[in-house]
Amino acid sequence: MAHDPGHAELHDPETDPLATYVLEPDDVRTLLDRVVASPGAATHTSHAPFTGGPIAAVPLSTPDDVARAARRARAAQRLWAARPLRDRIAVLSRVHDLVLERQGEVLDLIQLEAGKARVSAFEEVCDIAIVARHYAARAGRYLAPRRVPGLIPGLTTTKVLRHPVGVVGIVAPWNFPLTLTLGDVLPALVAGNAVLLRPDPQTSLTALWAAELLEDAGLPEGLLQVVVGDGPTVGAAVVEHADHVSFTGSTRTGRVVAAQAGERLVPATLELGGKNPMYVASDVDVEVVAEGAVRACFVGTGQVCVSIERIYVHEDVADEFLDAFARRARGLRLGAGLDYRSDVGSLTSAAQLATVVEHVEDAIGHGATVLTGGVHRTDLGPWFYEPTILTDVPPEARLFREETFGPVVAVYRVASDDEAVAAMNDSEFGLNASIWTADTRRGAALAARVRAGSVNVNEGYVSTWGSMGAPQGGTGASGLGHRHGREGLWETTRLQTVAVQHGVHGLLGGPGVGLHRLFDLGTETWPRVYTQALRAMKAARLP
Ligand code: NAD
Repeated sequence: MAHDPGHAELHDPETDPLATYVLEPDDVRTLLDRVVASPGAATHTSHAPFTGGPIAAVPLSTPDDVARAARRARAAQRLWAARPLRDRIAVLSRVHDLVLERQGEVLDLIQLEAGKARVSAFEEVCDIAIVARHYAARAGRYLAPRRVPGLIPGLTTTKVLRHPVGVVGIVAPWNFPLTLTLGDVLPALVAGNAVLLRPDPQTSLTALWAAELLEDAGLPEGLLQVVVGDGPTVGAAVVEHADHVSFTGSTRTGRVVAAQAGERLVPATLELGGKNPMYVASDVDVEVVAEGAVRACFVGTGQVCVSIERIYVHEDVADEFLDAFARRARGLRLGAGLDYRSDVGSLTSAAQLATVVEHVEDAIGHGATVLTGGVHRTDLGPWFYEPTILTDVPPEARLFREETFGPVVAVYRVASDDEAVAAMNDSEFGLNASIWTADTRRGAALAARVRAGSVNVNEGYVSTWGSMGAPQGGTGASGLGHRHGREGLWETTRLQTVAVQHGVHGLLGGPGVGLHRLFDLGTETWPRVYTQALRAMKAARLP
């Protein structure tokens, strides 16, 4: 489709030449040296989404390099786990301060590599500060041994301990280069683990910057090993050496990673795809909801796992809502530029653009109506695509069910709350959902009926994601396990139950009272005695 002048244009190729966005090797030498790779290694050059120009040639790791990195990580981890928790917490606390101080550097890198608007990149900086603050404040509580009722009241002291698993392998995608690397590295480290990190090759510089930041924050050498390379080779090698796997990516790849981890019998956290729904009830202020919907659908150019791709709107407010939503979407400022002048950036890759174009064209072919957008903006950069709102999308269209992972949303009309909940739940995915209503009690009640790992009432996704004490994760095809909260920290620990019997070697100068005494009663007597004891324990309401 031709260029639609409806959207403000900020990037002017005349005044922003491609060269502005190309990094010289010396600019990033200290980052490149952090990749675990052998001398003379092959390199990977990713391309800046704003321009299509090369960013930097990053050395590639081989499976042997990954094995070497894992050995180093393992050696460093033993010392790290033995250090007091307060030392590990201190590193997180410094990360919090440093990431805010140096945000300018990383905002540039995130924008260069992922092509998102600066305001979206800033979300990642905030996210790291919140993750660091949360785990620095709560790790002590989350990791503390838990006392549970013992077998014999008063004589058995039972505690559940959490130990680090060892080396956590993180395989990260490209859409949140800082959040989905450093944001997962921090809890793994504070739990006493080392980390083997394979960022997506498109966004490896940001991950290498995070490694530098951690070193400056006082992380001892060897604990974070960064390897670079493609998924099937280097990503798979990370899975091969990890004691716990944290994978974020598509459902398709998640199944492959899960099978490999399953074969090795190591646990895996899988944060996968979504087709996240939103419901607009009949009692809302449509202008407020339209503003929220624009953020929920188009922030990060829609390449956000928890962003909204389906909206169900009550028929009583549907026309008004669609007007307001389309007006606001058209008003979004699209553009490149390492500043805050644009609201929406580029898609990250040609592949991502191809999926978006394919989904929209397929929907149109099946009778969908384009309310706004549907335009590939080659005038702004190679992979810019306008925020797009579709209506009349039939079930046969691919984007009715499949994740698009771009700035595209389909809007459907419903006649009741019940119809909305049924439609929201009609998906193999169950990652995130959003409900908008003036009646927050009604919203909370509806939320509990939606099959999704997180549901936001009167917000798109930020409220649940940013409630750092709460687990974030998907159900169904959206994955297994969680990040955030104590559950996220616990994923990288293994449990150990220690039960201590007291008085076995004598009690108050008398004979011992260990379990062996039961057997001493004789095979006829002890079942009778113990049956009475069990009845007594229930009567005493012992747990
Ligand atoms: P993808 O599955 O194609 O790739 C994800 C990563 O996996 C890539 O970096 C790739 O190199 C790597 N990979 C590929 N094969 C591998 C293998 N055999 N072993 C190990 N790693 C391998 O996904 P994508 O399109 O790059 O990323 C977008 C997807 O990620 C979307 O589906 C999105 O919803 C999902 N995502 C989910 C969350 C979440 O928290 N649930 C967050 C962000 C993104």
